[in-house]
Amino acid sequence: MTSFQDFGLADPISRALKEENYHTPTPIQAQTIPIALTGRDVVGIAQTGTGKTAAFALPILHRILESRIRPQPKSCRVLVLSPTRELSGQILDSFTAYGRHIRLTSALAIGGVPMGRQVRSVMQGVEVMVATPGRLLDLVQSNGLKLNQVEFLVLDEADRMLDMGFINDIRKVVAKLPIRRQTLFFSATMPKDIAELAESMLRDPARVAVTPVASTADRITQRIIQVDFAAKPAVLAQLLKQEPVDRALVFTRTKHGADKVVKVLAKAGIEANAIHGNKSQNHRERVLAAFRSGEIRTLVATDIAARGIDVDGISHVVNFDLPNVPETYVHRIGRTARAGAEGVAISLIAGAEEMGYLRDIERLIRIALPREDRRTPGHRDAAPAPAQHRGGRPGTRVHAGRSHEPAPSAKGPRRHRRGGGNNAQQPNRHEAPRPAQQAGKSQAGHSEGIQGVAFLHRESRPNNQPNRNHRPQR
Ligand code: AMP
Repeated sequence: MTSFQDFGLADPISRALKEENYHTPTPIQAQTIPIALTGRDVVGIAQTGTGKTAAFALPILHRILESRIRPQPKSCRVLVLSPTRELSGQILDSFTAYGRHIRLTSALAIGGVPMGRQVRSVMQGVEVMVATPGRLLDLVQSNGLKLNQVEFLVLDEADRMLDMGFINDIRKVVAKLPIRRQTLFFSATMPKDIAELAESMLRDPARVAVTPVASTADRITQRIIQVDFAAKPAVLAQLLKQEPVDRALVFTRTKHGADKVVKVLAKAGIEANAIHGNKSQNHRERVLAAFRSGEIRTLVATDIAARGIDVDGISHVVNFDLPNVPETYVHRIGRTARAGAEGVAISLIAGAEEMGYLRDIERLIRIALPREDRRTPGHRDAAPAPAQHRGGRPGTRVHAGRSHEPAPSAKGPRRHRRGGGNNAQQPNRHEAPRPAQQAGKSQAGHSEGIQGVAFLHRESRPNNQPNRNHRPQR
């Protein structure tokens, strides 16, 4: 499938796609749309950034046009469940954009805002309802919405929904839906519990998968900088000044950490804003809009707040703290290099605990990441924590369900030896070339890295070399 024309989508939808400048379907769209158009259930492994929203929205819009009926009061024909408010808003925006020529009726049901308006918005009935599970149940329980007219159910980012504790809410919602419906189920990863959930909700689904989560990093240059714990803020500020940043998304593990980073950056003359669960919905929307428009170039976020952010043009993701769940690292860096662009992901790591998290991540992505050591010599003796003492999930769990990939070696990527400590990136002992040796050479391409996984190695600038692309922060 090389063009959207090949799908035979209804004319008003095709027109909207042209206006959106969508010409070529992405792989998940090419796989999903023809199947979903036949009415079959689909279970898809795809993460945000692959174009999966259109993969489910376009066939659904086509099908509701095929049998256009007026929705009954307080009901919807299409129900999309997503884990976060931001993602829900973005999904609704996509439906509205693709459905701009069909006078689509739609509504959003998300927490954090008063329910009254949401109740009113579905009073007459809508074609598409996008919701987070908790608020949806509130609406149903207060008799604001009936689910017995749902013909299409989409469950988006199922793995994240489970992580966020929505499993019971999802089961309650599904129990209220008609058995005869089409269900499209998407998840970035497919561990056992997600596969079981899918099994319980889908009938004879077609399975589609694109770019498994463990190998999404092709267009992302990943770097690790070992720092002293106390030096993290200073190194972050320095990076944001030196790197050619268009938009940077900085991740912290805690809300408090996010606020602290914003303050430290302000002192260094870098304007940044934070979004996290303690901020009001209004604040989050304002900040996101400013980030999207380029008014703010540095956004500091916690994982949950950042989950639904769909902003093209994020040139840099910086992990101020490394996450203890390795998949979270993959989700984080997937915020950059969207829509075919390239991106840079830099992680600051300090101490044995984060070194352990790094090993979990390297085992998951099967890449030994190039490291740069900026620790002061006196601090270099902290031994990495042994794998079994860490909070991260064990490697076997990480790979559950990804049968299309070879299992990683029990050892995972080998531990890097510290020693020289002269600011050079540490060599790793795999076949992958050593970044330190490539500095200065113009080289960017794939070679076979660890266990046959493509290893994208790009040249990295030596520390003492000025960055000609430097663009000062606004
Ligand atoms: P998603 O994975 O659905 O969040 O989509 C990621 C981004 O890619 C969004 O900004 C979409 O508007 C964009 N996008 C999706 N499909 C296409 C396509 N076929 N051509 C160009 N852009 C697309």
